[in-house]
Amino acid sequence: MEKRVVILGAGESGAGAAILAQKLGFDTFVSDFGKIGDKYKAMLDERGIQWEEGRHTPELILKAQEIIKSPGIPSDAPMIRQAREAGIPIISEIEFAGRYTKAKMVCITGSNGKTTTTSLIYHIFREAGLNVGLAGNIGNSLALQVAEDDKDYYIVELSSFQLDNMYEFRANVAVLLNITPDHLDRYDHCMQNYVDAKLRILQNQQPEDAFVFWNDDPIIQRELHKYPHGKLYPFAERAAAGLAAYTGEERIIFTEPTPFNMELEELSLTGKHNLYNSMAAGISANVAGIRKETIRAALGSFSGVEHRLERVARINNVEYINDSKATNVNSCWYALQSMKTKTVLILGGKDKGNDYSEIAPLVSEKCSGLIFLGADNSKLHNFFDAMGLPTADATSARECVEAAARMAKSGETVLLSPCCASFDLFKSYEDRGRQFKAEVMKLKEKGGNL
Ligand code: ADP
Repeated sequence: MEKRVVILGAGESGAGAAILAQKLGFDTFVSDFGKIGDKYKAMLDERGIQWEEGRHTPELILKAQEIIKSPGIPSDAPMIRQAREAGIPIISEIEFAGRYTKAKMVCITGSNGKTTTTSLIYHIFREAGLNVGLAGNIGNSLALQVAEDDKDYYIVELSSFQLDNMYEFRANVAVLLNITPDHLDRYDHCMQNYVDAKLRILQNQQPEDAFVFWNDDPIIQRELHKYPHGKLYPFAERAAAGLAAYTGEERIIFTEPTPFNMELEELSLTGKHNLYNSMAAGISANVAGIRKETIRAALGSFSGVEHRLERVARINNVEYINDSKATNVNSCWYALQSMKTKTVLILGGKDKGNDYSEIAPLVSEKCSGLIFLGADNSKLHNFFDAMGLPTADATSARECVEAAARMAKSGETVLLSPCCASFDLFKSYEDRGRQFKAEVMKLKEKGGNL
């Protein structure tokens, strides 16, 4: 009998996994507890893959030999629990697809900076003319590419949720940017569980593989000895023995495998966090044997990623920046840290148990005013009002842009970097960022007049 593979969740990763499973000749079934998007339904229907939506039918699911779970489904969801009790192996789409390709895998994880660094590495590999795919949390499903358009390299963004269900997958280059608290609600509020998930990126590395990481991260340093890994390529801002990249005299110094320098001024992405992301990307490309001239040019020509410190417009000599993806306090810290002028900070939304004391010193140093954009701003008022800065409340993108325009003085910056999830007022962080940008552009069209 054919092996039965059941895919739970039919988004980008689930639909792709189903297509690969069917192509491999498995008895394939897709089940989604919610509604399946029209695009994915069409992809499944075109290939005659069976699916259900709005429910999980145990009889159809529990006879699987293997289950591929979408990263969005929590591991304690009832159906997942039942499958585990029935002894069915549960894996991620990346784990599944990884079995059927010989491509080299460059994998990126961390609490912050994954998408930026993944996009940056992909940009360098493309500029180098390599046959490369983008996968994981961004780009197309890895499984779909393996099924229909296999590549020589994949640049794969891995969240801790994807890593949770990875076992044999091997990262030829593993990049670990940082580990700070996030998503603890899905790890039994236990930081170590989250840390362990992140470090799974190393679990099958061989001596000839590469591990690129931020050397100043205390958690990475503490945990490193527990895991096998390839050759170490640490990076940090300040020079120290053994670093693969560091800064000195206004330039990044890459030391190995091929030594070269790059002026900080040439980097297209600004801010300290992006310096780290650029170093991680430069080392990964260097390890892959890409020419230093290409790496340098590509680190200088990258156009950035939407919603990450994205410049929107300059109106009345005030710069508007959309950093809607800053959904935790640490990412807002980096955003504020990179501000070169006084800043009106827009923050707020669905709080994930935030501790704002981490950004308090930067807020008092850099901010000229605060706008709280949330359905319930009481926690923000309780924390920040004592600082004595002007504040305003807003419950829509329009209100927050208008309040910011009133508050910001010539030469200042308005920064949307909310520290919080968006779901109280918006569909997603993308929706929040786009609405913000649309309102800024409306203001620009009106010549900055409210
Ligand atoms: P992720 O995909 O891990 O969520 P992104 O690249 O989308 O990360 O960036 C999210 C936010 O995190 C950015 O808006 C920025 O403010 C912040 N950030 C980016 N890179 C780093 C980094 N290396 N360290 C800390 N914060 C970062």
